[in-house]
Parts: sequence; C-alpha cells; structure tokens
Amino acid sequence: MSATILDGKAFAATVRAKVADHVARLKSEHGITPGLAVVLVGEDPASQVYVRSKGKQTKEAGMASFEHRLPADTSEEALLRMVDQLNKDPGVHGILVQLPLPKHLDSDLVINSIDPAKDVDGFHISNVGLLGTGQRSMVPCTPLGCLMLLRDHHGSLSGMEAVVIGRSNIVGKPMAQLLLNDSCTVTICHSRTKDLKETVRRGDIVVAAVGRPEMVPGDWIKPGATVIDVGINRIPDGDKTRLVGDCDFDSCAEVAGAITPVPGGVGPMTIACLLANTVTACCRANGLPEPEGLTA
Ligand code: NDP
Repeated sequence: MSATILDGKAFAATVRAKVADHVARLKSEHGITPGLAVVLVGEDPASQVYVRSKGKQTKEAGMASFEHRLPADTSEEALLRMVDQLNKDPGVHGILVQLPLPKHLDSDLVINSIDPAKDVDGFHISNVGLLGTGQRSMVPCTPLGCLMLLRDHHGSLSGMEAVVIGRSNIVGKPMAQLLLNDSCTVTICHSRTKDLKETVRRGDIVVAAVGRPEMVPGDWIKPGATVIDVGINRIPDGDKTRLVGDCDFDSCAEVAGAITPVPGGVGPMTIACLLANTVTACCRANGLPEPEGLTA
C-alpha cells in the first residue's frame, strides 16, 4: 500500500474540539448556548442509533440537545406544527428532521418547512439554491466533511479534475457543487454513465457515493489521485458482517496518493459537521463572527 490514509476519525475529533472551543466562548463572552433539535418519527433502528449519537456528541461539545421522538403514525400536520414551534424557539439554532420519514409523510414538504437559517442538514430548497449560486448557505454535512478532508490534505483544490460517482441530493450533487465552488473541473457519474472506468480515471479527486460495496477497483484510479469513499455498506463476513466502502480499499490504496478508509474516514466527519453547522447557525442568528474553518 502506498497511499496516505486520510484519518477521518482523528480529523473529526479536531473539528469537534474547535466546535467545543467556540461554544465555550459563546457561553462565557455572550451568555449564548447553541442548541440543536433533532426530530425522529418512528422507530427505524438505524435512525435511532444516529439520533442517539448526535445527541451525545452535541452535549459533549457543550451545546444544548433537544430530542423529539414522535410515533410512526404521526400526522403531517402534527409534524409541521412541531417544526413550526422549533422555528420560533430562540434556544434552538439548528433543526434536523431525521430521514427517512415514514412513507405517509412528504419529506420535501417537511424539510422545506424548516427555517432555512436553522436547516443544519442543508437540505432546504433555499440552501440548495444558495449553494448552487455560490452564496452563503447551510451546507449538507457529509459533503462538507469530504470537502474539509480534501482541503486539509491539498490546501487549494483549484484546477483539479474531480469525479463524483453518485448524484443524490444529499451527497453527490452538493459534493459536486462544493468542488465546483472550489474551482475544480467536475464530472458527475451515475448509473447511466457509459464508460465509468475511463471517466473515473480522469479524476485527481474521486468521491464515491454510490452504495455498492467495493464497486470501484484500483485500476479505475489515476495514480496519485485522492479517493474519498463515502459508501457505508454492510457485507457478510463468515458468520458476522463487516463494513466496507464503495471502493475496493486494498487495490485503490496501491494506486491512490491518499484515501479515506471505511470505517473511520468520511463517516465520523458527518456528525462533526452537523455540530459545526449548528455553531455556525447560532453565530449567524446572533450577528457574531463565524468560527473559522468550519464552513464551506
Ligand atoms: P443514493 O442511493 O441516493 O444514490 C446513489 C447514487 O449512485 C445514484 O446517483 C445512482 O445513480 C448512483 N449509482 C448506483 N449504481 C451505480 C453504478 N453501478 N454506477 C454508477 N453510479 C451508480 O445514495 P446516497 O447518495 O444517499 O449514499 C451513497 C452511499 O453513501 C451509501 O453507501 C450511503 O450509505 C453512504 N452515505 C454515507 C454517509 C456518511 O456519513 N458517511 C452519509 C450519507 C450516505 P442514479 O441516480 O442514476 O440512480
């Protein structure tokens, strides 16, 4: 293996420390405690794990954590009422409605009912538009985490060829937009891309966000490229299971200049960036300077 391992776990810890430091200053100098409200509808086991982990890390950073658990049969009207209350609550600076929502609820409607200034997931249509036009916005957490790792490793990304595999609204598209805003030449691939191997081999940066275990082999990677593996896939391993990314780690690490592992790469950055977005939202709401290095 020749690639440098981009240690997302360690980097996420430095982001959380920066957040905690800023939170402490907001409290001591301004008497303000940033607050994050998380709304969970239903009992999806994976969502419950995420919400618990978000609450724990929010408190560890010194912020206020508000958890609202609603039954799976909650009506759209009741959920919209809850979001409205949180929009009006001055102690809440960030609101996150955990996805996926039960099928009878319209996710777009619910997300777009969040005050865009409190939309710490960055999924509100106003934030999508602001990001798309290069204006100040709330940026989706996973792509923001990838961008932070890339900037930390490369400094400037200007002029680099970036290939994003995946075009979802939560990862692929905002990732491509962030790379474009950082002056990369960006190609977005998806399930209809004709020559994926040749296209991916153009990338000085490759971001894989597909959801297919170990789909990208090393011979798709340009020698020396930086590989950011967003995928989280659970595969059978004897009588147990293990997590793998969308890239075949061993063969990609032979060729790449740098690569994120799974687990321990992009994953830990996502919650760290949620905390970063909450402190950023709190500073903006109070007309205070934003912490440096925690936004796009
Ligand atoms: P989606 O399923 O929403 O999107 C997957 C994308 O991959 C689609 O655009 C799809 O193309 C494309 N795709 C599927 N098959 C192929 C193929 N054979 N060749 C090329 N492109 C293909 O997934 P998400 O974006 O939500 O998530 C992607 C991965 O990232 C998942 O493993 C998920 O678990 C992980 N993830 C990790 C996070 C983290 O914190 N680290 C956070 C969020 C997601 P098309 O549009 O044409 O269908």
